[in-house]
Amino acid sequence: MIDAHTWLTGVLGYPVRHSLSPAMHNAAFQSLGLNGVYLAFEVAPDRLADAIQGMRGLKIRGLNLTIPHKEAVIPLLDGLTDAASRIGAVNTLFWDGDRLMGDNTDAEGFLRVLREGGVNPAHQTVLVLGAGGAARAVVYALQTEGCTVILANRSLDRAHALAEAFGVGTVLPLERDALAPHAAQIHGVVNCTALGMTPNEASMPPLPLEALPEACWVCDLVYRPLETRLLQAAKAHGLKTIDGLGMLAHQGALAFERWTGAPAPVSVMRDAALHALGL
Ligand code: NAP
Repeated sequence: MIDAHTWLTGVLGYPVRHSLSPAMHNAAFQSLGLNGVYLAFEVAPDRLADAIQGMRGLKIRGLNLTIPHKEAVIPLLDGLTDAASRIGAVNTLFWDGDRLMGDNTDAEGFLRVLREGGVNPAHQTVLVLGAGGAARAVVYALQTEGCTVILANRSLDRAHALAEAFGVGTVLPLERDALAPHAAQIHGVVNCTALGMTPNEASMPPLPLEALPEACWVCDLVYRPLETRLLQAAKAHGLKTIDGLGMLAHQGALAFERWTGAPAPVSVMRDAALHALGL
């Protein structure tokens, strides 16, 4: 029931109508019997400052941010968590008293999904494919676990910039021949590129799967489709695989917990996202 006490939460994006977050969060509110609602707001880049001013004026309880607002929002806030500050991107807004704060739950969401999948990444050597916003969060998360990161990206200048910001020692072009000599020392691979994502389901990163150790795990952040071509190929080579929907559910769950103080029903949120994907 929506009444005078309902907490308003939501996501700002442009575009935003594809977002699975409303399905996830509204299912979570319902399953816990909490009086909250989560909406999607399509906010063009030149209206972001107005939207944040509106959040302040209305005291909206919490918001998520998606493309293209994750970096642009930073100067509009009163403070950042350590994770958001190090990653340089914000996906969750919350109130600390009267201060509007920015957090980044992608990093911790990623670590939670690894642990849920039975992977303890501490001190492992991990190959990160990509150098965009998702890769920044993943590299930050892996470094908090003492991992050695090998970074590969199509645009080398972007990879070098990320490597410099995070002190990553090895940067490679995203090419099979460049990755192959490093394969034997890799414990895990994370695809943070858009390769394999709908409508380009046939594409996949040029990974020398046959040269990876048997115990290597492969995590794909892409969740449309849920089982990407990369995950299919990794499975066919007998490797452990982790899909991208778990991270989506966990980053949402962490935001939900910030806003409500209640432990989030992660499996309910994941199921709602699956349902919204038509699966
Ligand atoms: P982004 O900042 O736009 O970065 C895109 C990355 O993909 C860059 O490294 C880019 O390489 C690479 N790329 C794109 N097309 C490519 C191609 N044809 N060949 C090789 N590399 C290509 O995007 P992002 O926010 O980091 O997101 C990356 C992926 O992660 C997306 O699929 C997104 O849906 C997914 N994601 C999932 C979650 C989750 O919760 N599961 C969270 C965040 C993101 P260049 O630098 O060379 O352009």
